Amino acid sequence: MTTQRLYYSDSYTTAFDAQCIEHTTLDGAPAVVLDRTYFYPTSGGQPHDTGTLNGVRVIDVTVRESDGAILHILERPLADDQIHRPIHGEIDWARRFDYMQHHTGQHILSQAFVRVAEAETVGFHMSADSITIDLDTPALDTTTIERAETLANQIVFEDRPVRAWFPDGDELATLVLRKTPEVGGALRVVEVADFDLNACGGTHVARTGAVGLIKIVRIERRGEALRVEFRCGGRALADYREKNALMNQLAAALTTGYWDVPAALERLREENQVLRRELRATRSALLEHQARELRAATPHNGAFALVTQVLDDDPQTARELAQKLIAYPQTIVLCGVTGEKAQIIAARSDDLPHDMVAALKAGLAVLGVDRGGGRPSFAQGGGVAATREALAAALAAAAESLKSDANTSR
Ligand SMILES: [Zn+2]
Repeated sequence: MTTQRLYYSDSYTTAFDAQCIEHTTLDGAPAVVLDRTYFYPTSGGQPHDTGTLNGVRVIDVTVRESDGAILHILERPLADDQIHRPIHGEIDWARRFDYMQHHTGQHILSQAFVRVAEAETVGFHMSADSITIDLDTPALDTTTIERAETLANQIVFEDRPVRAWFPDGDELATLVLRKTPEVGGALRVVEVADFDLNACGGTHVARTGAVGLIKIVRIERRGEALRVEFRCGGRALADYREKNALMNQLAAALTTGYWDVPAALERLREENQVLRRELRATRSALLEHQARELRAATPHNGAFALVTQVLDDDPQTARELAQKLIAYPQTIVLCGVTGEKAQIIAARSDDLPHDMVAALKAGLAVLGVDRGGGRPSFAQGGGVAATREALAAALAAAAESLKSDANTSR
């Protein structure tokens, strides 16, 4: 004896009594089989119901493949004195109704895409996070998508009856289904009056009006298919509420009306571009000035002027300063940048013969690293934490290396 599936003929009953006919386990969890149930098991793309049996949480509902029995998986076993007695079941209505709205909405939307674009639904996904259908077309323009959405909502507004039944063979032969199912056995047909006819085992609302708004929220190409994400009823309302709050928040932050948010953002973007350009020019002029002052204050030893600096700036600023300094003739720059990933920059003007990679390596050796390199005229490296004192010692070693014969011969 397998379970009588009462939800097939009635999606709205949420409390019922039944007889327990089997106690078992599934993957270690306690499970019961009832002689009749309104609990919907995960199947046909629709997630299972949740609820309680004699007050114990039903956390999963599945169909046992061997005999078609419906297993109610429980959070904990039923008390001993409840076994083989009548069981009282209650179904979480909010979750069930959400899936009823979306399953019915899916039938309507799938038919709308057939009517508007001759696009067939080849995939369906429904979960607590998202509801999608996959259409057998790689692309649809916005106008076509909106026409399908409008048609689907028109069917909702007309509040048409939705009927589910098991036709006999003769009747089934006269029905033109949207999609011919692959499964054998008795076929359950769901009809949205004068609009859609399809085989489906899921739970649906009684009239299309109960679906509420059908809103497409995202279109995404997936290979040769088009994935359409949508929300119905309660989820559509929640989505609208959140997006409306978001728009109001954006409008308030930009001190404008929400229809003017795009224009306000565009103005901000342009303003930002101008400011960035001005900031770049100002920083460059500042560094130019710093370089001139530094160079003027540095004594010339007959061969070159050696500028030694430890900075707390970012490495990019230090690089720019070094570049501006070596634009002066007969100039060598040894620059340290403090921080968790301290850097040493060793650079010279083009009119000098010194190998700055060798000078850099001499400095890095003091810090105990060997990460860095560059051209003979400009080298940079580092990457370990270093204090001002450690960097000053490293720059002194780099300066010392400039005196060796090897480093002065071209
Ligand atoms: Zn369905």
